[in-house]
Amino acid sequence: MSFDLVVVGEGGGPDETNLSAYLFKPSAAPWEDGIIALEAGSGQGAVQKLLQRDPQLFNSPGQPPERTKPYSASEIYSLVRCFLITHAHLDHVNSLVISAGSLSGPRKRLFAAKQTLTDLESVFSDRLWPNLASWNDDDDDHKLLYTVLDMNDAYTTLISDVSVRGFPVSHGHNAAGNYDSAAFFIRYDPTGHEFLFFGDLEPDTLSLSPQTLTVWRAAAPKIPESLSTIFIECSWPSSRSDDTLYGHLKPEHLAHELEVLATEVMKVRHAAQVSSPSARPARKKQRMNNAVASPPSDVRGALEGVRVFVIHCKDTLDGAPDRPIQTLIIEQIKALVEAKGLGVEILAARQGMRIQI
Ligand SMILES: [Zn+2]
Ligand SMILES: [Zn+2]
Repeated sequence: MSFDLVVVGEGGGPDETNLSAYLFKPSAAPWEDGIIALEAGSGQGAVQKLLQRDPQLFNSPGQPPERTKPYSASEIYSLVRCFLITHAHLDHVNSLVISAGSLSGPRKRLFAAKQTLTDLESVFSDRLWPNLASWNDDDDDHKLLYTVLDMNDAYTTLISDVSVRGFPVSHGHNAAGNYDSAAFFIRYDPTGHEFLFFGDLEPDTLSLSPQTLTVWRAAAPKIPESLSTIFIECSWPSSRSDDTLYGHLKPEHLAHELEVLATEVMKVRHAAQVSSPSARPARKKQRMNNAVASPPSDVRGALEGVRVFVIHCKDTLDGAPDRPIQTLIIEQIKALVEAKGLGVEILAARQGMRIQI
């Protein structure tokens, strides 16, 4: 196992007590060695409630140092070394803003694409909220430190042993043009094991600027050996019409996106077969013909060994118990994916879950 991850929140609104937020660390290190906050919709308030329910949420028996005393929410956030944000929509940054003036511990970097940081600057403007972030390395310790994450680029170190590579993904468009969110490959450097986390995104099939295929192509060669866990949104149930998705996925689109990934995985496996020593004569022949044999169209079982955690389901808060919309969305995705036989495991991320990656 490479990472321990706690789901602080996984909803996509309107429930403000369960918004996108995840805390994680390398499995081999104690929480004290540094925590990465991935998205910051919910925060200390949610963690405080989760700790009341399960005081041992952040305690790892058998892992150094043995700690029996439960952490407090503010203690946990004092251990956060950096925030990693996919886009600046409020359901992903709410707690980052609200708690920015009361964070303790070492100075915290705020990693995101340039545009996302620019968007956050308009919040930390001394108008909407006090200016509690800066671009200056030498600035006060209490300020968040804006740090641009170049998209489509090499891996950037977040904390010791953990690095990230970001890709832009389309999250709808507005009067100013395309609105980008991000997908992150997060790697435990000592083993090269990764997980893939998507911020909000719309289907490539409906996007004016499709970008998700690039992410699937980067993921395909790693599946399932070094990449076997994916977090991706599915905000709406199947009944939602395509023209009211507002930059999000519904089960049909998520199933299709996973089929695109499965196709890319099969292409990679096919290419590896063609170039393996036993198949060399065939490869030579293909090169001479200046053509590569088309990969098998059957994608059944292509995603065997991969877990997909579904996140960002939009609640209805209509009084029905236990989030029936999330349950419905997961059932719909499972049925679609099983019909395609992709072999992928579909799981619901739930607030308060602890996930080993
Ligand atoms: Zn969102
Ligand atoms: Zn969003």
